[in-house]
Amino acid sequence: MSIASVVFVLALALASWWFARNVRRIRRNILLGRQEQINDRRSERWAVMARVALGQSKMVVRPVAGILHILVYAGFVIINIEVLEIIIDGIFGTHRVFSFLGGFYNFLIGAFEVLALLTWLACAIFLVRRFILRIPRFWNREMTVWPRTDAGLILTFEILLMSAFLLMNAADHTLQGMGEGHYIKAGAFPVSAYLAELLHLSTLAPSTLIAIERVSWWFHIIGILGFLNYLPYSKHFHILLAFPNVWYSKLAPKTQMNNMPRVTAEVKSMLDPSVPPPAPPAEPANGLPAEHFGAKDVFDLSWKSLMDAYTCTECGRCTSVCPANLTGKLLSPRKVVMDTRDRLEEVGHVIDAKGKWEDDGKDLFSRISEEELWACTTCNACTQACPVNIDPVRIILDMRRYLVMEQSKPRPSLNAMFTTIENNGAAWAFGPDQRMKWSEE
Ligand code: SF4
Ligand code: SF4
Repeated sequence: MSIASVVFVLALALASWWFARNVRRIRRNILLGRQEQINDRRSERWAVMARVALGQSKMVVRPVAGILHILVYAGFVIINIEVLEIIIDGIFGTHRVFSFLGGFYNFLIGAFEVLALLTWLACAIFLVRRFILRIPRFWNREMTVWPRTDAGLILTFEILLMSAFLLMNAADHTLQGMGEGHYIKAGAFPVSAYLAELLHLSTLAPSTLIAIERVSWWFHIIGILGFLNYLPYSKHFHILLAFPNVWYSKLAPKTQMNNMPRVTAEVKSMLDPSVPPPAPPAEPANGLPAEHFGAKDVFDLSWKSLMDAYTCTECGRCTSVCPANLTGKLLSPRKVVMDTRDRLEEVGHVIDAKGKWEDDGKDLFSRISEEELWACTTCNACTQACPVNIDPVRIILDMRRYLVMEQSKPRPSLNAMFTTIENNGAAWAFGPDQRMKWSEE
């Protein structure tokens, strides 16, 4: 095995190990949430996943961004098939190991090149839209320095990866034409042939061309391994979580609120003495906090809400249709989801550092204010708009439940209604004996 192959295998092993370690950490964080069984109506779930995640049906509601995103997505997924060849070549020191596929191989390389060019262009347009045209949803107050930098880094990174891929092919194509032994005649180069001409590569010495090809090859594959390991720290992790997140998404009507099983059981037992009261909640393990009514911290949210938080692409489509946000209220559903993810990461870091959860004196309310929560009209425009079926309203409702049921802090305007429900059993300020009076008037 050559030194280059040994270095390649070590880099591959290190990148795979680090990525697996981070994925395990994220999985552990998601499972800190409340347990919930979501595996009903399976065929419907597969259909929704095919339509929304694979078919990107919600992305194309905004055609320009939607089509550009489909190009980047297709380029990213399909060109990565070529990574398989790169890995085999890297390990065994071969060159274009799949070239035995003949005409089909030429078709594949040609298609990869066209996709690489389209991905390059789409990323460049995304950069212009985001940083030069400054589309408002990318500049809301929650889009602070890091989210903006993250988006810029991802787009720049993809442009660099595609450039390296095309430059590598351009040098390879020129070397093939010169009859350099190692560079067997294989592949079609509809884009890089023009690039080679543009850069006058045929005027360079073979040794220089080999250096360009090798540097581009290493940059491309090390870049891909680096990108893979950047994903768990970035909103770009959605390319992995979008599919499962959509599969597990809510199939019930969007506005249908879920009951709290414990409260339902308590009420049933109060109304019917033959129904036994529910058993007290189990003692939480590993220092985790006791169960609350509603959500005080990430432990009280469903694991699905926590998966939502890691899946958010920070696209801002939810906030851009939120009537509360559009009328100047503090609420932004994207911020609620991002704050949940940031709090979950914070909790994860405490567990990593101390080996178990130790109260750090903070919770979701350290990031999300009551004013934001009560501004929500529960219209569900945000859940409708979200391209990966995230449900910010569920987080909002769970946090409101905590405020009302554990803190006795409803929105002040609701106090009068709660009192009449308590006294009269209805939202109106009339006793049950007066209910039919309207019919006498
Ligand atoms: S449900 Fe709430 S957060 Fe979502 S769009 Fe409506 S008002 Fe905004
Ligand atoms: S919740 Fe959905 S719509 Fe809102 S920013 Fe995240 S991915 Fe976009």
